[in-house]
Amino acid sequence: MRIDDILTRDKTLFSFEFFPPKTDKGWSALSVRLAAFEALEPSFVSVTYGAGGSTRDKTNALVKHLATETSLDPIPHLTSVGHSKDDIRELLTGYTEVGIDNLLALRGDRPQEGVSESEFKYGADLVKTIKSFDERAFGVGVAGYPEGHPETPNRLTQMDHLKAKVDAGADWICTQLFFDNNAFYDWKERCEINDIDVPILAGIMPITSLANMKRMAELAGGTNFPAALQRRLMRCQDDPDAVRSVGISWAAEQCADLLDHKVRGIHFFTMNQSSATEEIYKSLGVTSSSKLR
Ligand code: FAD
Repeated sequence: MRIDDILTRDKTLFSFEFFPPKTDKGWSALSVRLAAFEALEPSFVSVTYGAGGSTRDKTNALVKHLATETSLDPIPHLTSVGHSKDDIRELLTGYTEVGIDNLLALRGDRPQEGVSESEFKYGADLVKTIKSFDERAFGVGVAGYPEGHPETPNRLTQMDHLKAKVDAGADWICTQLFFDNNAFYDWKERCEINDIDVPILAGIMPITSLANMKRMAELAGGTNFPAALQRRLMRCQDDPDAVRSVGISWAAEQCADLLDHKVRGIHFFTMNQSSATEEIYKSLGVTSSSKLR
């Protein structure tokens, strides 16, 4: 379903992000969990894409599986780094053929060794290419960074870059994960001041282990880990169950507060694990998104 129709249908959107598993074991585990994700009735699910096309086939396979074998509505991520316009058109043609209506358009992280001059320098270039692909035009989401993107320390300029993606035709914004709702509310207000008026989905990722927190700090550069959260985690004294329960309850509190503030949507970075998301729903007093929309 086109994102505009999803946005009309659901007052509050709930979406889950998956990554394409690398191994057969990972695929089997995810296939088993898909029923649990379906039961939570998300507005859509999204599937990550390895920058440079490293997961191209696996992303396509998972998207196709979700579209044909489940009730979930998949939105593929598409990163432009390392791709030519022809590569992107080929991918878009493939997605059109399987009935995909929307994409999350990203530039992707540049490899540390650098990339040769690309036809796509920034996310806005990819948005323009997708929007001009055909008349049917995909619904396009883009990334936003409430606590900043590491490549652009100037926060005023960064807002201009986000605005450029919206002006290029982005239909919605999904944020990088954050643990401090006040940072999100302030950034959202700055978006409004800068005439960025498309719906914004808040990115939430429950900490389920200390290793997973350290990995997030690497992947989501710029994200703050508030002192209050760190204090709670320190009290766990490396007890993995206690860490998990603190991480999930922090995320659940964030979600309750976001809903109180009438957020337009919540995007869960699930790491392909359904149980943490289920526990968050439970703590909100519901068993599926339909009760929260
Ligand atoms: P851009 O919008 O191009 O921004 C990148 C940087 O360039 C920013 O610092 C911006 O301020 C700056 N910039 C933009 N325009 C200009 C300009 N004209 N001049 C100078 N500077 C400019 N990565 C993956 O590889 N695969 C995924 O599936 C994936 N999914 C993600 C999902 C979400 C919800 C989020 C938030 C991120 C995801 N990422 C993913 C990470 C993302 O690819 C990286 O953060 C990447 O570094 C930036 O991508 P972007 O589309 O935001 O880039």
